[in-house]
Amino acid sequence: MWKFVLICWSHYLCSMRKNILIGLMGISIFAESVYARACPLVTMDDSYKSDILILTDNSGAVKSFGSVNPDNSEMSGKADEARKFWTERYLSVSLPLKALTVTSSYGYRTDPFTGKKKFHGGLDLHARNEAVLAMMSGIVVKVGQDNASGKYVVLRHGNYLVSYCHLSRILVGKGKQVNPAEPVGITGSTGRSTGEHLHVTCKLNGKSIDPWILFRHIKNIKDECVRALRDL
Ligand SMILES: [Zn+2]
Repeated sequence: MWKFVLICWSHYLCSMRKNILIGLMGISIFAESVYARACPLVTMDDSYKSDILILTDNSGAVKSFGSVNPDNSEMSGKADEARKFWTERYLSVSLPLKALTVTSSYGYRTDPFTGKKKFHGGLDLHARNEAVLAMMSGIVVKVGQDNASGKYVVLRHGNYLVSYCHLSRILVGKGKQVNPAEPVGITGSTGRSTGEHLHVTCKLNGKSIDPWILFRHIKNIKDECVRALRDL
């Protein structure tokens, strides 16, 4: 599935890739501290750019796995332990909305207000009055409202800073600890927005990165857990 591109064709791309990998390692280390087991490092390439930009959460899938044969208690104990591990790991991350449909990607685009080329430092997701979820456990570092971002929430997850903008409602206060999948706001169209959507930004150690990288990694973790639970 994933192409492992071994040749970096410029120093710039090399350093970008390094940053992405360091970023993913950051999430892995963060997840490990919570669940005491290493999280696999997903090697990424630029092919995510050409994906159909839709990801769907598969929360229902985990609940549908039955229990093992109760006659074999030793096997059953190990399977229960494994089931607990993979279920906890599955629940340790969440996509910010139930289904992600990208309406405007991260990077240069034509500004919808001025018609000029401008850097879009976040990613826009289709949303209709829905709960915005924390992607991992973390802390609310800022909430507020301004003319550009409208109502917004900023969360810290380890060395990641994630912000959700143009909300209609904010459901958390500064300093609150949040759990993965905890609602922190309701989508809206406040601030400089042409219509309802969720604008997500992501910073790693203070540097802006494409939030899609984070979404993809979360989806990979969830898919891995679903596969593991299926194979028990
Ligand atoms: Zn945006």
